Amino acid sequence: MPSVEPAQSCSGSHETNSQDADTQGQYLLTSLIDCAGVMRGKIVPKSRAKSVAKSGVGASPSWALFCADNDIAWIPSITAVGDHRLRADLSAAVEIDDKLSWAPAEVYEQEGDHGFWCSRHLLRQQCEKLAAKGIEMKVAGEMEFFLLPNDDKPIDGWQAYGVSSLLNKEEFVSEVVQTFARLGLGLEQFHGEYGNQQYELSLSPADPIRAMDKIALARLLLGRIARRYDCKVSFSAQPALNSVGNGAHIHFSFTRDGKPLLSAADGPHGISTDGGAIIAGIVDHLPELVALLAPSVLSCERLKPGHWAGAFACWGMENREAAVRYCSANPSNPYGANIEVKCIDPSANPYVACAAVLMMANAGLEESLPLPKETTVDPALLDETERAKGHVVQLVDSQSAILERLEQSALAQSEFPPQMLEALVAVRRLEMKNYANKPIEETIQALRFAWSV
Ligand code: GLU
Ligand code: MG
Repeated sequence: MPSVEPAQSCSGSHETNSQDADTQGQYLLTSLIDCAGVMRGKIVPKSRAKSVAKSGVGASPSWALFCADNDIAWIPSITAVGDHRLRADLSAAVEIDDKLSWAPAEVYEQEGDHGFWCSRHLLRQQCEKLAAKGIEMKVAGEMEFFLLPNDDKPIDGWQAYGVSSLLNKEEFVSEVVQTFARLGLGLEQFHGEYGNQQYELSLSPADPIRAMDKIALARLLLGRIARRYDCKVSFSAQPALNSVGNGAHIHFSFTRDGKPLLSAADGPHGISTDGGAIIAGIVDHLPELVALLAPSVLSCERLKPGHWAGAFACWGMENREAAVRYCSANPSNPYGANIEVKCIDPSANPYVACAAVLMMANAGLEESLPLPKETTVDPALLDETERAKGHVVQLVDSQSAILERLEQSALAQSEFPPQMLEALVAVRRLEMKNYANKPIEETIQALRFAWSV
């Protein structure tokens, strides 16, 4: 599976720990994504990389409580006292250019256990739970973003999926393609999207942690390249008023002993009993965990019927209005059958979002849930009775309601470290409070670049 190739990895060059790298101006950026979905990190001279992998660099526990607008959502158990460490995972490091290397960070306590809010570790634990059932998965991220020139001049001749949308920004597009290829990100496709000045690219499947690392690195690279073309990238769920939003859909496929669980078996479309339980688990538990997938004050603006955002908890073959779109194994689909979880947006921490989907999948297996009835039409067209019969539920009523459901979710309570769940809810509650009395256009404007890198 294409991934960040060892050939591009800078882990080898960290072995020398020499001061020469520093005098040549080389440095390592190590970063994580926090409870508000924002990437935060630190730079160290390259000679310190090995030490940062082992002992970490300091981060006050308040890092767990930063909001997208940099306010701090204090919870009683977290105070000004204490210190966490960010340890760079050099096995996943890449050399971005001759000066800058990047490695994902994990959060540790000073004594060496993982910090309660380490989302990369949370995802690892969920992978291990499924691995204990003999299940392996591949995961692939899609990334939508708005490219906004600093002078506010709209990109010329914008067309949805239009060639002119690509060619009018060809230098930017070309540099993205080349950089992603050099760093082994596995770019699958790149196009101008439906929204004005909105692009989308997709990345190839990888194991879940690698796939989320690729999303983090891709965000960082997109922001960095955009700067060179006097533009900014917006990863807000709703970057503009009355526009489509940005999704951050994730595709999942599952196998056991190399055999796919979502195809080549006896169920509908070849879905196996376990594959059915996985889909059922996700559809069933989505209403209680959606606040982890579409978590920001702007997410409910995006997650509406008619936006292809997957506003309803249900599943269906190639159904773009279902939160779970089933893509079957056929010659058009080189990676085989998979499900696309569409309700995720880029204000979510991707490691948390991916872990949440795996939690729901695992719950479906534990509960031996049967595959629910397929939704073969746009769920918005179904009346209340039909929705009730098909167990089709609209996901977002209000942001406060989905946060309450998350807080009360038995699944979330059993799978998250309690302080992490508390922090994830507290951060989004404070964001809601901070923007509750503002007109929506002001909130959109204020948060347009809150998730940018
Ligand atoms: N922009 C849509 C979203 O917010 C997705 C459109 C698509 O299916 O590509 O999720
Ligand atoms: Mg799209």
